[in-house]
Amino acid sequence: MKAVVIREFGGPDVLRWEDVETPSPGPGEVLLRVHAVSVNRTLDLQVRQDGGNYGVTLPLVLGNDPSGVVAAAGPEVEATKIGDRVAIFGGVGCGRCQHCTGGHQRRCASRKMLGVQCWGGYAEYLKIPAVNCVPLPEGLAFAHATVIARHFPLAFGECYRADLKTGDWALVMGAAGGLGSCLVQVAKSLGAHTVAAAGTDQRVELAMSLGADFGVNYRRQDLEREVMRITGGRGADAVFENIADPALWPGAFNSLAPGGRLVTVGAHGGGLVTLDVRRLYQQRLRVISGLGAERREDLERSFQLARAGKFRVLVDRVLPLREAAAAHRLVGTNEPLGKVILDPTV
Ligand SMILES: [Zn+2]
Repeated sequence: MKAVVIREFGGPDVLRWEDVETPSPGPGEVLLRVHAVSVNRTLDLQVRQDGGNYGVTLPLVLGNDPSGVVAAAGPEVEATKIGDRVAIFGGVGCGRCQHCTGGHQRRCASRKMLGVQCWGGYAEYLKIPAVNCVPLPEGLAFAHATVIARHFPLAFGECYRADLKTGDWALVMGAAGGLGSCLVQVAKSLGAHTVAAAGTDQRVELAMSLGADFGVNYRRQDLEREVMRITGGRGADAVFENIADPALWPGAFNSLAPGGRLVTVGAHGGGLVTLDVRRLYQQRLRVISGLGAERREDLERSFQLARAGKFRVLVDRVLPLREAAAAHRLVGTNEPLGKVILDPTV
């Protein structure tokens, strides 16, 4: 089969279009014919550049969120059938420990991130445990399923960690981005008032079109002042800050209401920021990592809501998989409005 293989870390040119052996599914595994996989700035670009501190072993095939059609099944596969349209949920268990064999793969101590610690979806085919497969509703496009699987369960997870309740004020940074655009919609669906913040007027407008109640351009406006004005001087109960840009962080942090929660799962803006500790304890604020358990039922619910037109998915464009290097360059420019998807079937 064809795959995009990394044999050394570096710029987009290290993504090489190669012939590799087609994997064959073992017990409990299926072979997935990949139809879509997304290019993620925080994950794919970082891992390609320097491994991203994830314990990567080369050579590696990237691709954390492939969706496609089950092409073959190994022994002991029951629920998943050849021809099923599926997306992938969760890390890949070892398949051998008592948790994996007992159906509690999430507790497996040697669980791997797909496309990071084991070969992922930048390939025509992928071998994956059947328990990781989540069926797609009829009519949901692979590209959309891939984006939903990548971001919506995480967006729900961040909202749970922020303890977001009906009537709360939520500020979403990077609100037109992959995760941000999902956070706007999930926060709204949970009954929060939503302020969408982004770095260009066009991106603010896009986030507003997803249902945000207010928009702020944090490159042009004073974010803290705008949030205080919008919330009647109260501030945001929850701030979703997945950028960690030292220039943007203070505005986001200072927008928190007393007792507010700032949740983060991203650092593509640099990662090193100044924390105003006095304000942190005096206002009883919390800074929380959003990484952690995501729920499969949130993914299934998101598929249904997207199918029903209630969740919108932003796809900038779909490129052939062999153009992975160009796709990485494009995502690196920060210009795409929506996700860039790779398709190995074209
Ligand atoms: Zn295991």
